[in-house]
Amino acid sequence: MDYKQLKKYQYSELISLRKFLFLPSSSLYKTLKSLHKNAFESNERIIFYYTGPIPYDLLAHLQRVVWHVDISNYFIAICNIHPETKDQIEQVRIKYSKDSNPFELIELEIKDQTLYQTDNPPLLNPPDTMCMYPWNNMELKPNGTIRPCCVYTSPITDVSAIPVNLNDPGVFSMEKIYFSADLKKLRQQFRQGEKPAGCKKCWQEEEQGIRSDRQLYNWIRRDQLHNIDYETEDIYNLNSLDLKLGNLCNLSCRICNSTLSSSWAVETLDQVPDPVEKKQHHAYISLRQGEWPKKQLDFWSEFQKILSHLRYMQFAGGEPLMLPHHFSVLEKAVDLGYARQITLRYNTNGTQYPESVLDKWKKFEMVNLDSRVDDIGKRFEYQRNGSSWQQVLENCKKFNLQRRLNFKTQISTSVSILNVYYLPEICAWINSENFDSWWLNLLNSPKEFSITNMTPSAKKLVLEKLIAYDFGQYQNQVDVFLSIIQNSSTVDGKDFVNAIKPIDLIRNQNFSLDHSDIAHAMGYVL
Ligand code: SF4
Repeated sequence: MDYKQLKKYQYSELISLRKFLFLPSSSLYKTLKSLHKNAFESNERIIFYYTGPIPYDLLAHLQRVVWHVDISNYFIAICNIHPETKDQIEQVRIKYSKDSNPFELIELEIKDQTLYQTDNPPLLNPPDTMCMYPWNNMELKPNGTIRPCCVYTSPITDVSAIPVNLNDPGVFSMEKIYFSADLKKLRQQFRQGEKPAGCKKCWQEEEQGIRSDRQLYNWIRRDQLHNIDYETEDIYNLNSLDLKLGNLCNLSCRICNSTLSSSWAVETLDQVPDPVEKKQHHAYISLRQGEWPKKQLDFWSEFQKILSHLRYMQFAGGEPLMLPHHFSVLEKAVDLGYARQITLRYNTNGTQYPESVLDKWKKFEMVNLDSRVDDIGKRFEYQRNGSSWQQVLENCKKFNLQRRLNFKTQISTSVSILNVYYLPEICAWINSENFDSWWLNLLNSPKEFSITNMTPSAKKLVLEKLIAYDFGQYQNQVDVFLSIIQNSSTVDGKDFVNAIKPIDLIRNQNFSLDHSDIAHAMGYVL
């Protein structure tokens, strides 16, 4: 049909907007992604049509996806004659884009005569509380349990409500986990716009103004955000794994524990002389459980099956750059030709520089190396027991020399009572090096070290120093922590001292030596 109102435009087809009410929710994203161009001619348009009032969620979805795939509203036109459409276009523009142009409205009625049908209507304009993790991801913990992400409070359970564990004998099936009652319920809660209780860390952080894991993952994997059919239960959505392939680690950091670090487990067991008691100790169990990647052969055959779908793998541990199975995973992805479509993200303790892996990383779509550096110099060595600051410094410099389009370096700092007073010194070090980014996160556990549990004098000491320092480009991040400290009640410091002292005695260390100001303010004396 030749419509005279459309004569001035260049367009390839007229797209029925109504059909997206009957297609999987990712369809609109896929359509617009395929039409995306870096530059459009000024008279070029992507033209949709709809007869009658356009459902709000459909229009909002369109605006969200258009903004998301980075097409200016200027190049989107909608043929519609309903009197409310103009206002609605403006409403969704304000809510879901920063574009100053609204979609163009063409006063033209084009009827879509097609009879569409679906048994499973798409979830358009998903709730703002939506999280991609339960659709996309599984976290495999060093102790063999499985969660949708690394901050969800409880492990996924089987039909008898017992946590699934990769250490258990019996057939392991990724599909069984994906379709477990726990994960199905969680996905349903997100569809309904609820805030699941197991996600409380995310909701708390968002209330505090901290970017939660949910928001971070939705951002990091934003190319997937509208590419998921949220209304379905399809295992092919599973394209991301958080692999903690054991707890082997050379450090016993103060903020860590035996489940995540073999060094912690060994140190803890050294304090248990009785052999029977030793074997029942949780540290001993953690060491055994950390060996699941060696024992669980079913997992590896399942992994091979989903490898062609994977787009994202996170590695933590233990120390991922020491874990033998991590290297085998990379090798497999490279050998089978899937590396180019996979992004890798690491949480490393900074002590390792495995030369052998550098060439492999070049074969992946992107590698983000996130080194956990909570402090500098002697304080780093105290907080991250077993480390050498000089070694970490050299590794950071070497990794920074490798930076390129598909290799980024980040420093992450878990802000706790141990290091909050020294943020200015850490910031000065960050500024003197060449990292892509610095990320501050709030340490919640062990809670004795949380900055929400400071004595009145520690609070005063920290606030005075941090407020006086100019954190430059990181100021916004630090401001959130300042506000948390300002709004927290105070404690007497005994829990902090009781958490620090026994470990100081075992390790022949003294917190107050290199942290004298904050130690004094928290009432710590050895
Ligand atoms: S909302 Fe938070 S805790 Fe819940 S699944 Fe998403 S990232 Fe995990």
